Amino acid sequence: MIDYHIHTPLCNHAQGSMEAYIAQAIEYGFSEICFFDHLTLQKSGRRLSMTPDEVPLYFMTVQGLKKEYQGQISIKVGLEVDFHPRKVDEIKDILEPFAFDVIGSSVHFAGAYNIVSHKSDWRHGKLETEKIYRLYFEYLTLMLEHDYFDVVCHLDLIKKFGLRPKWSISKEMDNILQIIHDKGLILEINTSGFGHPAGEIYPSAAIIQRSRELMIPVTLGSDAHKPQNIGRYFDKTLSILTAAGYQSLTVFDHRRPSQLAFK
Ligand SMILES: [Zn+2]
Ligand SMILES: [Zn+2]
Repeated sequence: MIDYHIHTPLCNHAQGSMEAYIAQAIEYGFSEICFFDHLTLQKSGRRLSMTPDEVPLYFMTVQGLKKEYQGQISIKVGLEVDFHPRKVDEIKDILEPFAFDVIGSSVHFAGAYNIVSHKSDWRHGKLETEKIYRLYFEYLTLMLEHDYFDVVCHLDLIKKFGLRPKWSISKEMDNILQIIHDKGLILEINTSGFGHPAGEIYPSAAIIQRSRELMIPVTLGSDAHKPQNIGRYFDKTLSILTAAGYQSLTVFDHRRPSQLAFK
């Protein structure tokens, strides 16, 4: 099995050394993991990402670990980049010198609103739900106009705190999935939602079903911010994927995707 979404202490909000994540993955019997730490250029109080200056250190450290653990576990190096509409050129400049295996992109900020922080106004119900959902879809659509990434991370993360709009999001989601399909992007199945107030996978089983109808390939990650969370909720997630008709997960090498059967 693989886990393609693992953080590191460089992001300033994850616990455990890179070696501890690797040791845990080996103990759990994983064949391949991908470090997928945050790169966020948004300024918002406490630092929640490696700095651009730390990207070379991050990249070189994982390259070293790849060699060190060769024969025991395959290790890939990726980044979870936060979409920022005015920083795309800067992001491309930061990524350009490095042969990353995979780049993902996320919307954690819809405009000025942090939609993931436990301290956010969103979390505490101080914002109008419909307005923030609309803004979130606007940002997803804007993000998908760019091409610096391979994977769309936790597509319906906006539901994290269990806040849902009065209307159904299926039409907006269909439009987004169509773009993901047309651009040949990979959809991330992110199991961390089971542990959040949302209480379900990102994206939902219904969206996974729809993405399968569109033949969008998927990858799988736990979003582990501590070693013991590697592979968390994978059993029930593989049942959801199987029920939707998926039989393989996407793995990457130097930004080239390939399929790995999980049955
Ligand atoms: Zn994080
Ligand atoms: Zn994320």
